[in-house]
Amino acid sequence: MLIAEKLEKTYRRHAVQVRVLNGLDLEVKTGEFLSIVGASGSGKSTLLHLLGTLDAPDGGRVVFDGKRIDNLPARERDALRNRTFAYIFQFYHLLPELNALDNVLMPAYIAHSTFNWWQSRAQWRQRAEDLLKKVGLGHRLQHRPRELSGGELQRVAIARALLMNPRVLLADEPTGNLDAESGGEIVRLLRDINREEGVTIVMVTHNLEIVSATDRVVRMVDGVITEDTPAPRLPFHARLAAV
Ligand code: ADP
Ligand code: MG
Repeated sequence: MLIAEKLEKTYRRHAVQVRVLNGLDLEVKTGEFLSIVGASGSGKSTLLHLLGTLDAPDGGRVVFDGKRIDNLPARERDALRNRTFAYIFQFYHLLPELNALDNVLMPAYIAHSTFNWWQSRAQWRQRAEDLLKKVGLGHRLQHRPRELSGGELQRVAIARALLMNPRVLLADEPTGNLDAESGGEIVRLLRDINREEGVTIVMVTHNLEIVSATDRVVRMVDGVITEDTPAPRLPFHARLAAV
C-alpha cells in the first residue's frame, strides 16, 4: 500500500552533512499496525516525514496505492496530507487557544474551501463530538489543552487525526512523553482503531514494550532497515490487554 524505495536523505547545515537515510526500502501493507524502532538519531522521524509527504527525499521514491507521491504538486500533496494521511506526535501539537472540540475540527476547517462549511458544520461538530467520546473524552469537549493531562492531550490528537477518515495514521513516538499506564492506554486505543476502522498505522517508538501491541516491527540502523519481524509477544502484552 505504502512503499519506500531506495530512500535517501541528507541534511545539510552549513558545512556539515548528515546522511540519514541510505537507500532505505520498506513496504507497509494495507491494514497493518507496523512499528519502527531504532536508536535516537537513527532517522525514524525523517522516514515517517517522507512516508507522509511532510518532507521530500533526495533520492528514491515513495509510492502510495501504486502512485508516486514524493514529488506531487503542492495542491495534490496538501489534499493527501489533509484527507488520506493523519499524524500524531510526541508533543501533541494542539492549538493552545482552542478547546478540545475545535482542535479536533481543525482538519475540517482547513479543508473548508473545498466544501460548503456552513451547510455541513453541524455534521462535522457531531462527528468531532462522537470521536472525542470514542477516545474517552466526552466530558472534556470544552477544555483547553492546558487543562488536560498528557494522556488526554494525546487522545484529543488521535480524535483530530481520525476526523477526515484517513487511510494511514503516522505516529511519531506517541507515548514518548507519557507514563507507562497512559502510554499503554494510548497504544491500546491505536490498536482498537486499527482493528475496528481498518486504518493502517505506522508508529515510531523506542519503547520496546509497546511494540508488542503491533503486528510487525522493523529496526533502523545506519539509515536502512536491518530487521523485519513479527512483533514479539512480551509479557507486557497481557498487561496491556487488561488495561
Ligand atoms: P530519530 O527520529 O530516529 O531520533 P531523526 O530522523 O529525527 O532521528 O534524525 C536523524 C538525524 O538527522 C539526527 O542526527 C538529527 O540530528 C538529524 N536531523 C534531523 N532533522 C534535521 C534537520 N532538519 N536539519 C539537520 N539535521 C537534522
Ligand atoms: Mg524522532
